[in-house]
Amino acid sequence: MPTLQGKVAVVTGSGSGIGQAIAERLAQEGANCVVDYRDHVEQAQATADKITAAGGKAILVHADVSVLSDCSNLIEQAWQQLGSCDILVNNAGVEKGADFWDVTEADYDFVLNVNLKGAFFLTQAFVRKLRDAKKPGRVINISSVHEDMVFPHFSTYCASKGAMRMLMRDLAVELGPLGITVNNIAPGAVDTPINTSLLANKPKLDALLANIPLGRLAKPEEIAGLAAFLASDDAAYVTGSTYVIDGGLMRNYHEQ
Ligand code: NAP
Repeated sequence: MPTLQGKVAVVTGSGSGIGQAIAERLAQEGANCVVDYRDHVEQAQATADKITAAGGKAILVHADVSVLSDCSNLIEQAWQQLGSCDILVNNAGVEKGADFWDVTEADYDFVLNVNLKGAFFLTQAFVRKLRDAKKPGRVINISSVHEDMVFPHFSTYCASKGAMRMLMRDLAVELGPLGITVNNIAPGAVDTPINTSLLANKPKLDALLANIPLGRLAKPEEIAGLAAFLASDDAAYVTGSTYVIDGGLMRNYHEQ
């Protein structure tokens, strides 16, 4: 039997890249999915079509995760239209490069409001419903190697992902008694639209690839495989951890 039969998952930012691959994979494992999008409904519809092709049910919900009322509506729609909400994947994320001294308040709000505030309050909405229904659940945050590894000129991104690491650790302890597990997936470089400018810049890409022991970017499907494991019964006793999936990037230290 598929490992996630009868489960319902919300995957934020699932019209693109890693989120799309996760939604499709969870559906292949038997889950029904809420496909969340902010700007690109046509891409979200493509995800929904993949879920249906995999035998799952999909609903599309527009939700900007940086808006609290959108967060509560996203979880509410899962319960109303699919009958439950057992798995939350906080995947929606943005980045904006700038020298630290040039970062504006608008840059800061743009990145932190999506990557951190969104995950924070969406998880709160998810947990409140499970607590009231006395049901267990899974929270899977897509953080980044930059929850731990420096990324000069991306201080807002690092701040958001580093905070996501501590939020995950804290919630694993606080929510454990409710039967809710909380874990992070920390990808290295993945071949998705967020990296469009990197992929178009050969010298920069080659320099990055030289630092990755496996010599390539990850495919979104590889991140999705790890998410499927963390959502499955096999991971029932796993909580409070970050799973790095980076082709060895973080361990590639060289003596000069
Ligand atoms: P992507 O292809 O650019 O997708 C980002 C998704 O986030 C889009 O579907 C976008 O939806 C959604 N989104 C952005 N702002 C949103 C908001 N306010 N509300 C709801 N959805 C919003 O990027 P990706 O590479 O798949 O990234 C997914 C996650 O993985 C991010 O958290 C990123 O930080 C993390 N990550 C990526 C990499 C990498 O190398 N790709 C590495 C480490 C971590 P719309 O298109 O509808 O706006």
